[in-house]
Amino acid sequence: MRFSHLFLPTSKEAPKDAVLASHIYLTRAAFIAQIGSGIYNFLPLGKIVLDKIKAVVKEELDSAGNQEVQLGFITPYSLWKESGRAEKFGSELLRFKDRKNNDFVLGPTHEEAMVDLVRNRVKSYKNLPQNLYQINTKFRDEARPRYGLLRGREFLMKDGYSFHESDEDLDREFKLMQDTYCKIFTRLGLDFKVVEADSGAIGGSGSKEFMVLADSGEDDVVVCNSCEYGANVEVDDSKAGDKCRCGGELRITKGIEVGHIFKLGTTYSEALKATYLDRNGKAAPFIMGTYGLGVSRLVAAVVEQHHDERGIKWTDATTPFDVVVIVSDIKKEDQREFGEKIYEELKEKGLNVAIDDRAERFGFKMGDFELIGIKKAVIVGKNLKDGSVQIVKRDDLEKIDVAMGDVVLKVMEL
Ligand code: ATP
Ligand code: MG
Repeated sequence: MRFSHLFLPTSKEAPKDAVLASHIYLTRAAFIAQIGSGIYNFLPLGKIVLDKIKAVVKEELDSAGNQEVQLGFITPYSLWKESGRAEKFGSELLRFKDRKNNDFVLGPTHEEAMVDLVRNRVKSYKNLPQNLYQINTKFRDEARPRYGLLRGREFLMKDGYSFHESDEDLDREFKLMQDTYCKIFTRLGLDFKVVEADSGAIGGSGSKEFMVLADSGEDDVVVCNSCEYGANVEVDDSKAGDKCRCGGELRITKGIEVGHIFKLGTTYSEALKATYLDRNGKAAPFIMGTYGLGVSRLVAAVVEQHHDERGIKWTDATTPFDVVVIVSDIKKEDQREFGEKIYEELKEKGLNVAIDDRAERFGFKMGDFELIGIKKAVIVGKNLKDGSVQIVKRDDLEKIDVAMGDVVLKVMEL
């Protein structure tokens, strides 16, 4: 990718209402641009990161045996009346009419639509279990959209729904999903905690949230300093200093909710009359689980946990490029030629490489490097005359001098 050809309108201006690092940096570094309250466009760099996160999510879900589908973003309002959730969801549900006066909603979550897809199609216990998911746009008319991608009105969610014939089988799948979510967040380089959670408007019997630990989080979570225990304060009225069941001490910390999994039981299948023939030939409602994960919120959550006062520091799995070759002064023939050569060689090695070949001052390009947060840069500058270039790691901004002939090897090594 050539920065000279990239739509990369970086800026020194932060959005007026922005208080969080992710909102400020993602906008300034031209990953996202707001188009309306709680509605964001993704620019090329933002789309690259979003797709990288989507790919990790998809890989882990597919290897856990889930099946990807894609449901309509818009769902008939009648399904929401059938489930009895139209009122419960309140004004977050955006409802509208088409030209024939039919009522629809912009899907804020898809339990109803997924049950509708499965009912009368999955007919027997022999076809169970099923776990179907999508990575798709959601719309919730949030009362207070804020913090950029963290609380949008339009956002990207992975939502999965499983169907079972027994509680035991749901328990098995729930555990598998918990482990799968942990793999996803670990691969993304996040420090997170699985906590006991409230089942909220969706309803059900048991649920867990996945919290990215960050001071900017909107949720308060209780965590134990010696065992794995964690809970949203909504379900655990402990305070800092209380004793945990294990004897350890509890503390309260802030978290960003990036995932939420529920055991739904038969709430939706009963309401929507979705049944299958069980082993005794009798009609029985599906026992269900639902599994949500905030894909666009994750882009911001990574930044909340990985940044400094200069900009973003993407993790290995989320960096838009593995390395960027910065040509200090493109008017200098030797720098441009060597930069191009390294760019090609690194690409041949299978790395995901960018070259900053813009006709800009070196200081400007370094400023962008620090703001954008690509993991490493190779700086081809004045030292080329003495046969060397510099490698900079975004993490600690450490500069390493490397002989021209060793650059590719050294980049690979880092
Ligand atoms: P919150 O309490 O933050 O409003 P929620 O409980 O309403 O979240 P769910 O209905 O469980 O969220 O949705 C699944 C996931 O979708 C959440 O864990 C979160 O990561 C993401 N999500 C929910 N609302 C938003 C939003 N307004 N903007 C971005 N992501 C969201
Ligand atoms: Mg919500």
